[in-house]
Amino acid sequence: MSATTTFPPLSEDASQAMAHVDGRRLIGMQRALASFGGRADGGVAREALTATEREARRWLIQQVAGPRYSWHIDAAANLFLRRAGTDDSLPPVMTGSHIDTQPVGGWLDGAYGVIAGLEALLALDAAGVETRHPIELAIWTNEEGSRFSPGAMGSSAFVEPASLAASLLSTDAEGVRFEIERDATVAALPEASTVPLGRPVQAYVEAHIEQGPILEASGCRLGVVTGIQGVRWFEITVRGSCAHAGTTPLDNRRDALMTAATMVGRIGEMAVSLGDPALRLTVGRFEAAPGAINTVADRVTFTIDLRHPEDAVLAACERRIREIVAEGTGACVAEVARLMQRAPTAFADEVVTIVEAAVATSGEPSCRLVSGAFHDAMHLADVCPTAMLFVPSHGGISHNAAEDTDETDLIAGARVLAGVLAELSR
Ligand SMILES: [Zn+2]
Repeated sequence: MSATTTFPPLSEDASQAMAHVDGRRLIGMQRALASFGGRADGGVAREALTATEREARRWLIQQVAGPRYSWHIDAAANLFLRRAGTDDSLPPVMTGSHIDTQPVGGWLDGAYGVIAGLEALLALDAAGVETRHPIELAIWTNEEGSRFSPGAMGSSAFVEPASLAASLLSTDAEGVRFEIERDATVAALPEASTVPLGRPVQAYVEAHIEQGPILEASGCRLGVVTGIQGVRWFEITVRGSCAHAGTTPLDNRRDALMTAATMVGRIGEMAVSLGDPALRLTVGRFEAAPGAINTVADRVTFTIDLRHPEDAVLAACERRIREIVAEGTGACVAEVARLMQRAPTAFADEVVTIVEAAVATSGEPSCRLVSGAFHDAMHLADVCPTAMLFVPSHGGISHNAAEDTDETDLIAGARVLAGVLAELSR
């Protein structure tokens, strides 16, 4: 708990920014954004680069006005609301998140990080705080990855512009190309001037709902996120041979399904036996061919999604998975392919410390935690000092119309974000 540790006091500007966060304005803007794609069940349907998302972007740029503000857009359709600094040639401090949702998402998810950032800018205005660095509120394109694959397209293109070429060719389920919708989105925002991908950033801090149960269970109102866990994806293929279900004796089969099912059972037991509460292992897909009720299956593929905050644990688990598969083939043959690997992300101590100091100033009970989900901050952490701030999710529910967070927690998070941005941009 942060209460037991002392942190350097925040600047007067940061304290003033925190004091000027307007909770009613924040909740009002959050509900207004949720009305774009809002559903009767409380959920939001606002997939990336749809007409609905474009309307929400138009609404967002109308929320800031005056000589301090300008709007910018890049080749991935990432949108930036920029508040000028007194030394405007310096790289910006950035905050933000995404406003796209799953086909049916909740009203908060990334939208909370965007609205909390917007409220923080308005609080700086209300407090009369001038910052040395400009501050930019980023609305990253296609974080969810549900309409166009892969996810976090905008933030990954921002830090690695070469990745955009492949993304432009990505198509949705109707065959519409990302590039077409990118162009339509840029055209719908004529106020926004074009900026290049890969610009330097002074620091990045992203507020987000936790989307998990840890903060609620521990009684913490705010979570100081120290990193994002690593992930490895595998596909295991087991090959046997087809045989007649009625005529082939059990000891004379090369049964790919029974062999694969035993492997899945042993891999699951291995994961549980490690007793590591931070380990996540999921077999999310299991497909057998030819898939006939009266034929022994000759080919099975199954997938494993493996996650942990420490790369050494991921490597040790991968070794055990490979051993279990190699030992369990019986009369079949099997192979393990690693489809994807992302090392754990460690956030920057200097930003984590400032988040913790602002949390301490707010007086809210807090904990440190590692994010179980990927976020745009994961990519930003590759190019600038980065951290995140979580608020609790009711029941850990997300990507669901029932997703919710107490208003007092949403307000507390925005207050901390305002303090952090003022401190980082001094
Ligand atoms: Zn999100």
